[in-house]
Amino acid sequence: MVTAGYWLGCFISLLVHEAAHVCTGAVFGLRVKRVGITWRGPYIVREQGDALANVIVSAAGPLANVVLAVATWRLSASFGLANLVLGLANLWPTRNSDGGRIISELARLRRSTANVPAASDESEPQVPLPGVSLRV
Ligand SMILES: [Zn+2]
Repeated sequence: MVTAGYWLGCFISLLVHEAAHVCTGAVFGLRVKRVGITWRGPYIVREQGDALANVIVSAAGPLANVVLAVATWRLSASFGLANLVLGLANLWPTRNSDGGRIISELARLRRSTANVPAASDESEPQVPLPGVSLRV
């Protein structure tokens, strides 16, 4: 049976998740443009930061749920489990998920650092090659 406490717990978990995104974005000076809700849950549209800021802001929501899970596990295992699942599910790298954004921003960060031309050799290719690179 689904109780009012269950729905309150869901609401608190989602609120903590989104608040972590907003607060972390504020640390990087990123303004919130829009707040909304879809069948998948609430969402926030914010200004884009650099790739590293986007990775940290995207990870903040799921991380907040994992921290909440650990902090509340002894008080309510079901609330803790719900937050653990919420945090980990948001890290799953699908389109428009926090995990998907983390992966795409890490790729952008890698591309931006790989595009730095080598100072001593102008024949270096300007387009990064796939695979692991090492700057020396
Ligand atoms: Zn999120």
